[in-house]
Amino acid sequence: MADIALYDLIIVGGGPAGLTAGIYAMRAALKTVLVEKGVAGGQVNNTEIVENWPGLESITGAELAANFLRHASSYGLLVKTREIVAVEPGLHYHTVRLDNGEELRAHAVILGMGGSPRKLGVAGEDENYGKGVSYCATCDGFFFRNKEVIVVGGGDSATEEALYLAKLATRVTIVHRRDALRASMILQQRVQAQPKINIIWNSVVTTIRSDQNGFTGVALRDVVTGQQRELSADGIFIFIGFLPNNQLVPAGTVMNANGFVASNAKCETNMPGIFVVGDLREKYARQIVTAAGDGCTAALAAAHYVENKKMGV
Ligand code: NAP
Repeated sequence: MADIALYDLIIVGGGPAGLTAGIYAMRAALKTVLVEKGVAGGQVNNTEIVENWPGLESITGAELAANFLRHASSYGLLVKTREIVAVEPGLHYHTVRLDNGEELRAHAVILGMGGSPRKLGVAGEDENYGKGVSYCATCDGFFFRNKEVIVVGGGDSATEEALYLAKLATRVTIVHRRDALRASMILQQRVQAQPKINIIWNSVVTTIRSDQNGFTGVALRDVVTGQQRELSADGIFIFIGFLPNNQLVPAGTVMNANGFVASNAKCETNMPGIFVVGDLREKYARQIVTAAGDGCTAALAAAHYVENKKMGV
C-alpha cells in the first residue's frame, strides 16, 4: 500500500471560515489541504449583495467568494473538491475519509461545515421544492419577475431576501410568526420603506398548496386569533434560520442543545487538535466577518498546536 501523506492541517469546508483558515495556515507554512464538496465560498454564493464586509461597501456574494478562493490559492493552498464521509480523531493523527475511498491524515483538523436552511416541516414543502418553494432568493428570484411571492421569517435573511425579491416581483408578502421582526434595524427600516412589501404578522404557514404545475399558495393560521386563511402566490421563499451541518462532527465532541459545536477562544473543541469555525460553531453572531475571524484564530491556534505536537510538548 502506498504511503498516506500526513498533513499538518486538514480544513473541512471551503466557506469564508475555511478559506480564511487556509490563508493563515499557508502563511504559517503548515502543510494544508482544504476539502469542499461543493462550490468554494459556501453560503456567500447564495447572497446577492454583501454590504458588511469591511472595506468594501458593496460586492456580490459570488465575487467575494471567488476572491476568497483566489486569495487562498495564491498561497498554494491545496483544495480538493470531494465529499467527506468521516472525520476520525486519533491519538497520533486524525483521519479524514473521502467518498472516493481516499484517506487523508493530519495533526490538526478544522471543522467548517457551516449550516443549511431550516425547513417549515409542513405538508407540500418537500414535494414543491424547486416548483415554487425555494430557500435561496438569489438562486431562484429571477423566475419570479413580475410575479407575487411570499417570504417566511422575520430575521436578517428573510428581510434581506424580501428586499432583493421586491426588485423583481410585483408584490412580496412577508409572513412572520410574531408581531415584531428579529432583523437588524437598518433592514427593518428598508422593509418599511419598500412599498412592494407587506407583512402578515402573528401568522404561520400550516400547508403549502399546489396543483399539477407546482406551488399555488399557502394556508395560514393566525397564532393569536386561531383564524385560518388562504393566501395565493406564485412562489414562496423560506428563511427561518438554519441548522448546523454537524453530521461529520466526531462522536464525543461537545455540542450545545441546538447542535452547534462548543469551543474556547482559540476555536478549540474538547477534542485535542480539532478546531471549529464559522456557522457550525456555537457563538453569538453568524456573519461572514466573524467566520473569517474564526478561520484566522483556528489556523493560528492550529499552527501552535502542530508545532508543540511535533516537538513532543
Ligand atoms: P434567524 O436570525 O434565526 O431568524 C429566523 C427567523 O425565522 C426568525 O424571525 C424566527 O422567528 C423565524 N422562525 C424560526 N423558526 C420558524 C418556524 N418554524 N416557523 C416560522 N418562523 C420561524 O435566522 P436568519 O435570518 O437566517 O439569520 C441567521 C444568522 O445569520 C443571524 O445571526 C443573522 O444575523 C445572520 N445574517 C446576517 C445577515 C447580514 O448581516 N447581512 C444576513 C443574513 C443572515 P422569531 O423571530 O419569532 O424567532
